[in-house]
Amino acid sequence: MIDSKKVLKFVDNNLNGLVSQLQTLIRQPSVSAKNEGIEECAKLVAKIMKKSGISSEILRLKKGIAPVVYGEVSSKKNPEKTILFYNHYDVQPAEPFDLWDDEPFSGKIRGNKIFGRGSSDDKGELITRIKAVEAYLKATGDVPCNVKFVVEGEEETGSAHIDKYLIKFKKKFSCDGVIWEFGYVDSKNRPIIGLGMKGLLFVELSKRESIRDAHSSLAVIIKNPAWRLIEAVNTLRDSKGKILIKDWYKEVKPFTKSDLKILNSEPFEETFFKKEFGIKNFVDDKKGLEIKKALAGGATCNIAGFVSGYTGKGAKTVLPCEALVKIDFRLVPEMIPKKQVSRLNRHLKSKGYGDIKIKVYHGEAAARTDPTHPFVSQVKNSADEIFGKSIINISNAGTGPMYSFTNILQAPCISIGSTYMFARIHSPNEFARIDLLKKTTKCICQILEKFGN
Ligand SMILES: [Zn+2]
Repeated sequence: MIDSKKVLKFVDNNLNGLVSQLQTLIRQPSVSAKNEGIEECAKLVAKIMKKSGISSEILRLKKGIAPVVYGEVSSKKNPEKTILFYNHYDVQPAEPFDLWDDEPFSGKIRGNKIFGRGSSDDKGELITRIKAVEAYLKATGDVPCNVKFVVEGEEETGSAHIDKYLIKFKKKFSCDGVIWEFGYVDSKNRPIIGLGMKGLLFVELSKRESIRDAHSSLAVIIKNPAWRLIEAVNTLRDSKGKILIKDWYKEVKPFTKSDLKILNSEPFEETFFKKEFGIKNFVDDKKGLEIKKALAGGATCNIAGFVSGYTGKGAKTVLPCEALVKIDFRLVPEMIPKKQVSRLNRHLKSKGYGDIKIKVYHGEAAARTDPTHPFVSQVKNSADEIFGKSIINISNAGTGPMYSFTNILQAPCISIGSTYMFARIHSPNEFARIDLLKKTTKCICQILEKFGN
């Protein structure tokens, strides 16, 4: 424990280094969507790691695929346990440029904030992990457990190759626990410890009836594909949000007692949320615990867009030749995307809609770490010590490639971090809060300590 005190003090005394290295990282644009600065940023991350005492190398699958920066430190006193930090060095495009108060890649500091694309997502988070390891190495000459870094460059475009990297370098990446790339801190300065992510299945259903649009007077004899598609889509889900596809929920397990205990204690500001979106009630008029259950463990069938015929100004009497709908299904643990696709297929056929074409864009399974796993209490206790209080969230309502890690590496995966909830990530004027960067660095130090011992 004396070690831990020394290390936390080191973080306090070396905040300037953290801030200036984050600025350096922000000033190197790395927009994966445009392949801008990816190679340069990967090299910069490897260099920063080396400077911090972490041995680093750049891993590649093949040309044209963003490299992964791998970092490693072996523990002298405890080589038996390994923690892995997953982060990404790529960022979202900075557009629209004119809505930024400063240059998007400026790293400008105002008060407690560092501005710039990637300042929070994910360069700020990455630097807290690097600095925590550096603090241990420089203050004590060792780390409490082995540490590995996997820093990818395609997260913001959907992590297309993370699976392949994890499979190819499975041995190299083997570990006993994964700290996820981000974690939110709420408006009351409480970090939210995330134990899961939902999966996603994105499909397009379409129906073409004729080879060209027709005069709508012909609707008496030519079938309208928009009606056909509406009827088909209408069989997928009831008005309460329940998905009507046979066996859709077959493998899904109910919440455990410890899940429910956590859900019950999780805060959710119903009135604030409704006001924020200008809505009067939720799906199926959900209230209280039902809302929290849905956010953490509800599957969805959402119409993301529906196109057919004429939707421009004024009137046009047309009979469209084609109709198309894009649907995203959020998946929960135990739902396997491939299996769900074949269920959707079977459903449409059995309801007499075998003529509807299905195109699958993307499928990724959900992941969740058991709240009773010891890794969870190690992270929770660390966060409580540094932040005073923290919140456990059994699953994020969104999707990320967490399943690839829990499934391929067979390790529990927890998200915790320094991202202020309203840090404008993916938007103009993204920033990171310096106080949270410092606290998170300390929190990561505590996690290393507890995990290693
Ligand atoms: Zn992002």
